[in-house]
Amino acid sequence: MELRGLLGLYRDGASVRRVAGVLRRLAGRVGRSMSFMGFCGTHEWTFTYFGLRSLLPRDLRVVAGPGCPVCITPGSYVDTAVKLSLDGVKILTYGDAYKLPGSELGRPRSLAEARAEGGSVQVVYGFTDALRIARRSRGLHVFLGIGFETTAPSVASPISRGEVPGNLLVLSAYRLTPPIMEYMLSSVKDVPIDGVIAPGHVSAIIGAKSWGFVAEKYHRPVVVAGFEPLDVMLALLEMVAQVIRGEARLVNEYKRLATWEGNLRAQRVMAEVFSVVDAGWRGIGVVPGSGYVFSDKYSRYDAAVQLGLEKELRRIDEMPGGCRCADVVLGRASPTDCPLFGKACTPSHPYGPCMVSREGTCYIWARYGGPELLRSRD
Ligand code: SF4
Repeated sequence: MELRGLLGLYRDGASVRRVAGVLRRLAGRVGRSMSFMGFCGTHEWTFTYFGLRSLLPRDLRVVAGPGCPVCITPGSYVDTAVKLSLDGVKILTYGDAYKLPGSELGRPRSLAEARAEGGSVQVVYGFTDALRIARRSRGLHVFLGIGFETTAPSVASPISRGEVPGNLLVLSAYRLTPPIMEYMLSSVKDVPIDGVIAPGHVSAIIGAKSWGFVAEKYHRPVVVAGFEPLDVMLALLEMVAQVIRGEARLVNEYKRLATWEGNLRAQRVMAEVFSVVDAGWRGIGVVPGSGYVFSDKYSRYDAAVQLGLEKELRRIDEMPGGCRCADVVLGRASPTDCPLFGKACTPSHPYGPCMVSREGTCYIWARYGGPELLRSRD
């Protein structure tokens, strides 16, 4: 079936409403309230943009998760990139991170502000774009490697093939998703999760089997799901059915793109180019085994090593004062719980990191009416 036809199928309103009806009947049999986490910012987008919360049973909550790379990229990383840009190094960044506020005490700046002050910053679509720009220009370029396992292979592959020019380095803020999920389930108090919708696109790379620990070790249902309305509603239905049966299993709803084993070629190249290290998540802290840095063999591409930035990047920082983004990405708060939401913090003037990216829950709620949806449930 063509992609357009497939999308139509997964967005079919009648099918979504039918699933919602079954979900409401099943949820009524549980006899208590339930909370499920949509790991990805894109899952949150689907729930909010399509107004799906208005179809859910009153006792069933869907909370956002940490699957927004821009939201959890440390402020010290932004500060470092800002400083490099003002020192004349050309910073190449995804548009999503352009307005991300740093954390420098007294004067947190984004790359957008650095550029306004004369910093050298260019927005790119991806690493291929960065390669093209660096090959055509002189001077040192640093690509900001922000993302999860989905975007890391696009950097690892050309590096492993020796296709990267000498004037292009990468500042890695790549983060791994299963370790933050494990950290949340094992270490973070008050995270209300009866089950997890695991990221479909990440699973296409690392394999659906990577989420088995959620069921086996933490006894929560977990469903790898895509990003269409029917995907996420079927994921909720499966998890509620498991709750009723007293089960906790891993189910792959996204078989059309994510296999059990994932993309072995991408996994091999990432294992060759990167080493796994403990890494900081903004507002959350250091999460064991959750970051990628370049392996020794490829350290000549590593901006942190080549420019002596490792110490600066290790600084642990918090969210901007008053910002509740850390609670939002941990499912402990909604954007509307933050007094700054829609006032001092808006998509055009983001104060906190969850308001910057299209995957940020605050941005999504501000753009597509999350508060309205909350009110409609009261
Ligand atoms: Fe942070 Fe802004 Fe969200 Fe408040 S509305 S939690 S300040 S990102």
